[in-house]
Formats: sequence, structure tokens, C-alpha cells
Amino acid sequence: MQALIYQGPEKLTFEEVDVPSIRPNEALVRVESVGICGSELEGYLGHSSVRVPPLVMGHEFCGRIAALGDQVRGLTPEDKVVVNPLMACGTCANCRRGAYNICRNRKIVGIHRPGAFAAYVAVPFENVIRVPQDMDASLASLAEPLAVAIHAIKLGFKPLDDLLIYGAGPIGLLCVAAARQMGAGNIVVLDLQPARLAHAERFGAIGLSPREIEDRREALFPQGIPVAIDCVGVQATREQAMNLVDPGGAVIMVGLGQGNSELPMNHLVRQEISLIGSYTYSHEDFRQAVALLTRGDIAIEGWTETRSLDEGPAAFRELAEGISRFSKIFFEALNPPIAADAQPGSDVIEWAQFIRTAR
Ligand SMILES: [Zn+2]
Ligand SMILES: [Zn+2]
Repeated sequence: MQALIYQGPEKLTFEEVDVPSIRPNEALVRVESVGICGSELEGYLGHSSVRVPPLVMGHEFCGRIAALGDQVRGLTPEDKVVVNPLMACGTCANCRRGAYNICRNRKIVGIHRPGAFAAYVAVPFENVIRVPQDMDASLASLAEPLAVAIHAIKLGFKPLDDLLIYGAGPIGLLCVAAARQMGAGNIVVLDLQPARLAHAERFGAIGLSPREIEDRREALFPQGIPVAIDCVGVQATREQAMNLVDPGGAVIMVGLGQGNSELPMNHLVRQEISLIGSYTYSHEDFRQAVALLTRGDIAIEGWTETRSLDEGPAAFRELAEGISRFSKIFFEALNPPIAADAQPGSDVIEWAQFIRTAR
């Protein structure tokens, strides 16, 4: 099969590799669409300590079941699915209290094992979630980043709160969508790029530059800013967010832009500001993301672009250089999708059986 392989900082190759084999509790998914995550851009630039080359990245994806291990229950070949890429151990103290996202032994598809920038990806079947057969595959791929946004919102936001969001990238935009669903008041999104701010306005937020908010804060937030979500995560955004939120307010940290920041900690003490880290999502967040997307409340037009996987090296370069006018790039499968009503005896099933017996 063909795969996009991260070979080291700013180096990606498109190559022929073996189709992954599956264990008895795993499913093989034929990838129909996979999105580039902001964290993978950081990885591409060599800023991610957890992504070790050579690696097939890709953890935001939708596809169809191509093969199933013997222990898999509840899935059928050709089911259209998305996958929660976070694999928790289920036995550590955090897993036992249900906090799977901060499992001490967590592994992530596309980081610790091969991901979906490929024709096929193998995943544990417990992580597979079925979506409607006719759902757009790129839209469905947003389940993962939308789950990130839903998790962040839940950590500090209450219904009717006004909200300040840093970054009009995919996570920032999906935070706007999630917050609106949860009854947000005014939502202001800050970004440096006018094209991205236009996306935020289309999602129903007010788009401003970080400089403009200083002047317009009183008018836009007459009751103060109870909560800010930082989807960028650099010195400037972290520091300004801490200074802008109200006494007693919270800054939810999602962005991983910089490893270290120098922050006004005495201000935090005196004003009782809370800094809250938000990482990935729970199973519930992921299922809610799928439900929200299935309802059709979120559109991918205008802010996303679709390409084929062999354009991967160029797509990563353009996003990293900031010259893409789109916030999100999806790769769609090169192979034409196989009919959903494929019957036993078809290529798909034979292929599935071949993989099972070859294991
Ligand atoms: Zn992601
Ligand atoms: Zn665990």
C-alpha cells in the first residue's frame, strides 16, 4: 500500500509499504479521508518529542472496515467508521477512575503505532465508532479535533458564559461550534491572519487581532471575560489570556506552541486565576463529537481543502509556511471507494480473509 512517512524534520516521503497486519482484537480500516492535525505540523517541524521517525502519522480519519480479527464483535466489513486514536491501558489509577485521556501508559495511533496517512490502518476494535454509511468522510474525520474542542469547553465553560478564544485554526473554530451548542454568549476569536478570522466569523464568532481586543474588551465583554481558551499556546497568547480574564477566571490551555513560557504568576495568585490543561478527550466527548457532526451542524466548506495523499509533502510545507488559506487539509483515498453493498465473495472480503489467514 502507499503511505506518507515522516522521515525527520521537514522531510516526508510517499512510499510503498506493507499493509499492516491485525491482531485478533483489531480492525483493519481502509482510509477514505484523513486530516492533518496541528500537532502533526509541530511534529513535521521537529518540535514534537513523541513523534519518532520513521513514522506514518495521521490520527484524524474516517474509513471503511476492510478486515476484522477473530475476537472483534459488533463490526461488519464495509462499515463506515471513525476511530478514537487514544489507546488507554485500562488498568492504571487514572484509567480506573475513568480518566482514560491521562492514562499513565496511553498510546496514540499515528504516534506510537502507524497511523492513517496510508491506504490502510490497523486499530483496536474497541476504539472504532460507526458513522452513517453516507456521511462525508472528511466531515467525519473532524470527530477527533471536535472531541478535543468539546473536552476543552467542558473544563471551564458554563452555559451563557462569554468566551475568548486564541487561534482561528481548526481547534479554535471547532471550539466556537462546540461552545455555541452549549449555549455560549459572545464569542470572540483572536488571530493574526485576516483569512482565518473570516473563518471564525463564518462560525458565528467575532474575529479580532490580539491588539484590537485590548481596546474593545469593555464593549464586547461588559461583564468581564470569565474564561479564555488558548488554542495557540505561545508566550504571547498565554500571557495576554491570563491578563484579560476576570479575577476568578480561567484560562484553558489546549495549544502546544511552546514548551516553556514565563507567566505573571503573582497576578495569578492575587486574582485567583486558574490555568487548566486540556488534553485530548474522553470516550463521551468523542461520541458527542460524532453525534454533533452527524446532525449536520458543522460545515467543512470554505475553511478546509481536500487533496490526495501523494501531495502530502507539499501540503505539510504549505501549512507550515502559513501560505495555505485553508485551516485544515484532508487527504482523500486515491483508490475509488468500493461499493457499500459489497457482498461476500467480493475483493474486499477475500482481501479480509487473506489478511486473517496470513496473520
Ligand atoms: Zn489531532
Ligand atoms: Zn491507564
